[in-house]
Amino acid sequence: MADTALITGITGQDGSYLAELLVGLGYNVYGLVRGQNNPRLPVVAQLCPAVEFIEGDLLDQSSLIAALEICQPTEVYNLGAISFVSLSYKQAVLTGEVSGLGVTRMLEAIRTVNPRIRFFQASSSEMFGKVRERPQNELTGFHPRSPYGVAKVYAHYITANYRESYGIFACSGILFNHESPRRGLEFVTRKITSGAARIKLGLQPNLALGNLETERDWGFAGEYVDAMHRMLQQAEPRDFVVATGETHGLREFLQVAFSRVGLNWEDHVISDPRFLRPIDVDSLIGDASRARDELGWIPKTSFEDLVTMMVDADLTLQERLVSQVGR
Ligand code: GDP
Repeated sequence: MADTALITGITGQDGSYLAELLVGLGYNVYGLVRGQNNPRLPVVAQLCPAVEFIEGDLLDQSSLIAALEICQPTEVYNLGAISFVSLSYKQAVLTGEVSGLGVTRMLEAIRTVNPRIRFFQASSSEMFGKVRERPQNELTGFHPRSPYGVAKVYAHYITANYRESYGIFACSGILFNHESPRRGLEFVTRKITSGAARIKLGLQPNLALGNLETERDWGFAGEYVDAMHRMLQQAEPRDFVVATGETHGLREFLQVAFSRVGLNWEDHVISDPRFLRPIDVDSLIGDASRARDELGWIPKTSFEDLVTMMVDADLTLQERLVSQVGR
């Protein structure tokens, strides 16, 4: 019988890539969708027509139990969260409810409906925050720097706790920043690649950003979902760092993105305090050697290729929008 997966966060960047991967592997794939008339649903339905949607909300315990009873999954991938650090400062309680306690609700649903379901939790490099060592691995201590990071630490530990307490095959991928043309426009990478494309086409004069003194380990999201799947196929549940092992500054990202469209970023980027955070995570770099050695997972897309892929996709998108609606 084919495996069945339930994905929360199906309308997000990772949800669509993971759904495509699992459908290709022959899984029946269900996506948990929240709210009435979710505006992002048609996009995912078009990208992955084989996915069946099921209503439910990480805030609502009974809806999670009902969803598991209906789709009877063998695997649950929890990608649903309030994932934008800036928003987590403005809605700290909601972030804790969704990104933190939501995980407990899903684990409780699994324990109630079928404790043999394998569970993947999308943990985050934001848990390392004010980093204790470089690079960060599975043993590095946490020091989160935002309500988002704090909620993810809680979620990480509750996943380990249900594994240890109830023997559930539950594990976390500590995912470093991962990007793609499907990344939300609120995140800095996509904001830059979309901005560079629009400036090139004369659709906007400049790009307003916050803290430029930041470095991230940016990988390609399409490859990170493969690591998630591999984690659930192991003999024993274990947590893994998923990262490229390289770090790049925001200025370097700007340089590669703007030069792709023949522009100099310093002529167009302006500073706007609205995009500053109370405190920030300065620099992240992951050590994914456990994933390489035990999962056989190796990231292939280089930093330059990632930025170029995103700029090219945004140029194509903006050109299409211009031809459809005019300026
Ligand atoms: P994060 O690592 O999950 O917070 O991912 P983001 O893409 O939201 O932010 C990455 C880094 O870029 C952070 O250090 C931000 O402070 C910095 N940054 C600078 N300007 C901006 C901006 O205009 N928007 C966002 N989202 N981040 C910015």
